[in-house]
Amino acid sequence: MIIVMQPDAGDAEIDAVEAKIRAHGLAVHVSRGTERTLIGAIGDERALEPEMLDPMPGVEKSMHIVKQYKMVAREWHKANSVVDAGGVPVGGNTVQVIGGPCSVETADQMVAAAAGVKTAGARLMRGGAFKPRTSPYAFQGKGVEGLELLRSAADGEGLPIVSELMDVRMLETFLAYDVDVIQIGTRNMQNFDLLKEVGKIDKPVILKRGMSATINEWLMAAEYIAAGGNHNIIFCERGIRTFETAYRNVLDVTAIPVLKRETHLPVIVDPSHAGGKAWMVPALSCAAVAAGADGLLIEVHPNPCDAWCDADQALTPAEFSSLMQQLGAVARAVGREL
Ligand code: PEP
Ligand code: MN
Repeated sequence: MIIVMQPDAGDAEIDAVEAKIRAHGLAVHVSRGTERTLIGAIGDERALEPEMLDPMPGVEKSMHIVKQYKMVAREWHKANSVVDAGGVPVGGNTVQVIGGPCSVETADQMVAAAAGVKTAGARLMRGGAFKPRTSPYAFQGKGVEGLELLRSAADGEGLPIVSELMDVRMLETFLAYDVDVIQIGTRNMQNFDLLKEVGKIDKPVILKRGMSATINEWLMAAEYIAAGGNHNIIFCERGIRTFETAYRNVLDVTAIPVLKRETHLPVIVDPSHAGGKAWMVPALSCAAVAAGADGLLIEVHPNPCDAWCDADQALTPAEFSSLMQQLGAVARAVGREL
C-alpha cells in the first residue's frame, strides 16, 4: 500500500503513519520528495485498508497496489479453470449453452421446454423456482414444487439443472433436489451471507453480475465464495444499468475479455436479461461468443406469449434451435466448439 502525505505533513504525522503500519505487521519505506512524502507499506497489504489511514492527520490518500482478490485472480492461477457443471465442463474449448424458461410453471411446460433445450443441442437446463420479482404482487415462483418439476423434466432428457437460490434457508432443499448449478442472481451478488454459505459447499455457482456492480466488486463477490473453499464459480454477465432506456440492460461485452484476463474462472453471458427482447437475443449471443464467452444462459419457453415471467425475451424452441446452428458457426470462427 502507498500512503501519500499532504505537502505540509510534518515528522510527527509521518511517524504516526509509520507506527500504524508497523503495528499491523508490515515494514515501512519512506520516500521524501521535494514536495511531499510517500510512505510504502511493505508486506501483506490486505492487513491494511485505506480507511484506516486516510483519516490520520497529514494523510492525503492511501491506496492498495495489489488487487484485493487472490483466489479468483489469474495472477495466481494462470491456466483456465474448467468447472464441472453436473458432468458438463464449463470453461474449456466447448462453449456451453444453458436453456430453459425464466420460471418453472407447469409439468407440461417443463417437459416441452426440456425437449426443446435437448433437441437444440444445449447441455444444461435452467428454470427459476424462486423468483426475485420487482413487485411483491407478481408471481414469485413455484417454490419447492418448481424444483421438483425442473428436476424431473430435465432428468427425462438427461440434462443437469441450474436454478436461482435467493434465500440461504433454502440451500438444504437445493442440495436435496440435487440442483447441479446454483445461480446467484443480480440482486444478490453482494448478499455476502449468501455468498459465504455457497462458499461452504462444492456445487458450482453461477454468479451473475450485480446490475450496477463494477468488475472489481464482482470479482470480490466471487472471492467471498472462493474464500470459503468453493472454487467452482462461473461468472455471468447479464447486462448493466445505464442511462439508456431503449432496452432492458446494456450487455457489457467489454466485461468478457476484461474478466477473462483478470480471472481463470469461466465467464458466461445471459443475453436474455440483457436485451430483454427475444429478437435481440441472437445478435447478443453471437457477440458474446465472438468476444470469448465460455457459455450462454438463454431463456427458452415452449410458448413465450403465455410465459408467467419475462415473456418478451424468451425464445421458442424453434428459434433456439436455429440460434444454436448460428452459434456453432461463430464458435468455430473463433477456434471453439459448441
Ligand atoms: C433469471 O436468470 O431468471 C434472473 C432473474 O436473472 P437476473 O438475476 O440476471 O435478473
Ligand atoms: Mn428471467
